[in-house]
Amino acid sequence: MLRDAMEVFTGSFTQQEAIPEAGIEAAVAVLRHGRLHRYNLAPGEAGETALLEEEFAAFTGARYCLAVASGGAAMTTALRAAGVAPGDPVLSNAFTLAPVPGAIAAVGARPVFVETTAALTIDLDDLAARARDSGARVLLLSHMRGHIADMDALVRVAAAQGLTLIEDCAHTMGAAWNGVPSGRHGLAGCYSTQTYKHLNSGEGGLIVSDDAAFMARAIVISGSYMLYGRHRAAPPPEAFAEAALDCPNVSARMDNLRAAILRPQLAELPARVARWEDLYRTLEAGLAGTPGLALIERPAAERFVGSSFQFLLPDWDGAAVAEVVARTRARGVELKWFGAPAPHGYTSRYDHWRFAAPRRLPQTDRVLAGLLDLRLPLTFTAADAALIARIIRAEVGAVFQGAAAAE
Ligand SMILES: *Cc1c(COP(=O)(O)O)cnc(C)c1O
Repeated sequence: MLRDAMEVFTGSFTQQEAIPEAGIEAAVAVLRHGRLHRYNLAPGEAGETALLEEEFAAFTGARYCLAVASGGAAMTTALRAAGVAPGDPVLSNAFTLAPVPGAIAAVGARPVFVETTAALTIDLDDLAARARDSGARVLLLSHMRGHIADMDALVRVAAAQGLTLIEDCAHTMGAAWNGVPSGRHGLAGCYSTQTYKHLNSGEGGLIVSDDAAFMARAIVISGSYMLYGRHRAAPPPEAFAEAALDCPNVSARMDNLRAAILRPQLAELPARVARWEDLYRTLEAGLAGTPGLALIERPAAERFVGSSFQFLLPDWDGAAVAEVVARTRARGVELKWFGAPAPHGYTSRYDHWRFAAPRRLPQTDRVLAGLLDLRLPLTFTAADAALIARIIRAEVGAVFQGAAAAE
């Protein structure tokens, strides 16, 4: 144990892998010909963006796919295309990232937050109750940090309450529930290709759906002008007759440069998912049985992407959690704490989003008070994950024993 006390981790939790050479070459080719706008095509050319859409539709098994400027733009475009109007209540997870309520607010709608379980997923009883008392017609479900609710049960609740389901799959691109790819359980799935997600184009987003009328509206809203015929993973031109006149153009297109960077990464995604699983399971095994620490059990039906890791210090005193964060940070391990009183970095909590006038959610408060989170970029090795586990284990143990001794 002496050795544990000495060890320090020196890797960077924010360093992603380089863009694959094939992506760099494809990007340079786009720069050389200069046709970066997705509708700027040479005769007979499909364009990188339309090809990415085709490939992502195939990857998820969806009929249609639309690439957009960001994950946030994917969600706002999907909400608009689903008919959400200003003032409408839209249900969402209380445990999510700020761009999710931000997307609801961007269309003038009102986020209604639903309680969180100890498995970090949406509470289905509270979902039904909030659907009834808010009158919401749409659920923007966030698979926050890659934790997937029982989707078979969720789809039943949504159907019983007359809810249209839109999935935020920023952390579940490449994941599945009972063999169904994440993003394929409702009307639409939204994904992000921002640097910290599973594919990296700096910024970017994707929407998939099987619904022709919805996708025609989404394409027009994303800024297609009358050029929707240049899409490939799209409904036929006649599906656009109404949408082309009814829908506003809210420019949020993807460009060919970013699509060129993404296509070779998409081909690598299954291999990346396997590498993430390896890191995740190594960290999980290293933390198993740590006194005072609870791991999040992953259901057998869930195929998750282990690009981040969460654990709970259940019902710990806030000062003790803060001490764990400080002690691990001193040894190079950056833990993000969802129970911190003030928002910090990327980490904020539903009660910090004052624009949404959130109600208090006692169950979520209790879970988030002890919730710690870390990234697992693919620049880490399994040896790194094992070292991170030893450091967390030692520091959680030290604070836990100190607290027990003080009692
Ligand atoms: C990153 C993220 C988004 C939004 O993605 P951007 O591409 O950054 O707009 C949405 N939901 C969750 C849970 C995220 O982490």
